[in-house]
Amino acid sequence: MGELAFRNITKRFDKTEVLRHIDFQIEDGEFVVIVGPSGCGKSTLLRIAAGLEDQSEGQVIIGGTDVSLAPPAKRAIAMVFQSYALYPHLTVEGNMSLGLKQARTPKDVIKERIAEATRILALEPYLKRKPGQLSGGQRQRVAIGRAISRHPQVFLFDEPLSNLDAALRDQVRMEIADLHRRLGATMLYVTHDQVEAMTLADRIVVMHDGVVQQIGTPRELYKTPANTFVAGFIGSPR
Ligand code: ADP
Ligand code: MG
Repeated sequence: MGELAFRNITKRFDKTEVLRHIDFQIEDGEFVVIVGPSGCGKSTLLRIAAGLEDQSEGQVIIGGTDVSLAPPAKRAIAMVFQSYALYPHLTVEGNMSLGLKQARTPKDVIKERIAEATRILALEPYLKRKPGQLSGGQRQRVAIGRAISRHPQVFLFDEPLSNLDAALRDQVRMEIADLHRRLGATMLYVTHDQVEAMTLADRIVVMHDGVVQQIGTPRELYKTPANTFVAGFIGSPR
C-alpha cells in the first residue's frame, strides 16, 4: 500500500549528472536509510520523491500510483528537513495545522490530527509557543509532528538530526525509531552518519557519486560489502 519505488531515475543539473539510474523499491512499512558522503545526491533523490524537484528521466511510484508528474500536495508523502522548515511567525499549533488547512481538511479532522501528533510527540507544553522559543530538539519534534498530522503513506527524513547536539540526537533518533514501530509507516531516511544508518535501518542503500553502490540489511553490508567504498563506509574490518 505505502510502498515507494524509484524507477530508473536520472537527474541532471545543466549537463552534470548528479543521480544515475536509481532503481529500487521501499516496501510498505519498511525503514530504509540512504547513506553516502556529502554531495552524493541524497537530498536530490528525496526532493524528487517529494515532488520538490523534477527528475530528468525515470518514474516515482507511491502505493502503486505513478506520481512522477504530480505536485507535492498530490503525493501521500511528508518530509522532515534538517533545518526544520517551520514558520517563525506561527505557533507550534499553527505550524502543524497550516498544511492541513491549505489542503481544505475539515476543522474537526485538523483538531484530531493535531491532538494525535501532540500526544505521540508529547508536544502539549509547546503548542502556543513560536519556534524561536523552542530548542533545536523541540523544533525538530514539531516538524515531525507536522509530518505525522498529514497521515502520509511515506515519511521522508533528510538528515533530521544534523543540527542537534549529541544528547538530543540520540533522543530524537530513538523517537523516530519508536514512531516507526508505532505507526508502521514506510520511511526513507537520509544521513551521512553510519551509526544512524546501522541502528535505524531495515535495509541500507549506500550511495556514492549519484550511483547506488549496494542495498542490503546492515548485517549484509557489514559482512559482505560489494566493493571497497561500501567496506570503508560501513566500517567493516575487511
Ligand atoms: P547530498 O544531499 O548527498 O549532500 P545533494 O543531493 O544535495 O547531495 O547534491 C548532489 C549534487 O547535486 C551536488 O554536487 C550538488 O552540488 C548538486 N546540486 C544540488 N542541487 C543543485 C541545484 N539546484 N543546482 C545545481 N546543482 C545542484
Ligand atoms: Mg543533503
